[in-house]
Amino acid sequence: MNIPWLLGSNNPHKLKELIEICDIPVDWQLATDFNLPSPEENGESLEANALLKAVYYHKATDLISVADDTGLFVDCLNGAPGIHSARYAGETNSYDANRKKLLQELSTLQKPYPARFETVLAVVWNGGKWLGRGVLLGEIITIERGNNGFGYDPIFVPTGYTETLAELSPAVKNGMSHRFRAYKQLEAAYRQGYLPANLK
Ligand code: IMP
Repeated sequence: MNIPWLLGSNNPHKLKELIEICDIPVDWQLATDFNLPSPEENGESLEANALLKAVYYHKATDLISVADDTGLFVDCLNGAPGIHSARYAGETNSYDANRKKLLQELSTLQKPYPARFETVLAVVWNGGKWLGRGVLLGEIITIERGNNGFGYDPIFVPTGYTETLAELSPAVKNGMSHRFRAYKQLEAAYRQGYLPANLK
């Protein structure tokens, strides 16, 4: 029997994506299974937020716990929206409003607008931790294109592509995204023996 690992998220889609990408022999559980309130994400970096979530879920369940945090970093805005990507336009968490605010902030600045998505993954277990990162480089465009995906996808063109992430098929996006790269790092770290295979 595989040992249980916890994904510190209440989002079943995140777990599905993780399992599809990261082929490691563990028995995944979701935070929802434990009825825990979500921790406050008050860190000042993606690393701090991913780590505080993984530590929180590990302490609460005693299971090896994984958590992630993602942000969009735009060079000419000094990295904004960055760790505030989810609530850039306020507490409503509206993808639409976030994109509008970003384009508004860019409207007085000169093109092009190089940017990157980053996902940081943290794994925490009894006596240890591991951090990994996936990065997707690209550029922000000012006219939205495409209906797939979510968040900032309609205004983000990955380097080497002419389509936005929202114009690419989910299979293409999910096969090269920042999350894909972070989850593949987790898989590699597991296979190389940097992560606990059978400790608690
Ligand atoms: P989270 O840490 O996964 O919740 O991501 C934080 C925010 O970053 C989300 O609310 C989205 O606005 C944005 N985001 C994360 N991943 C993506 C993506 O793959 N495409 C577009 N936006 C994303």
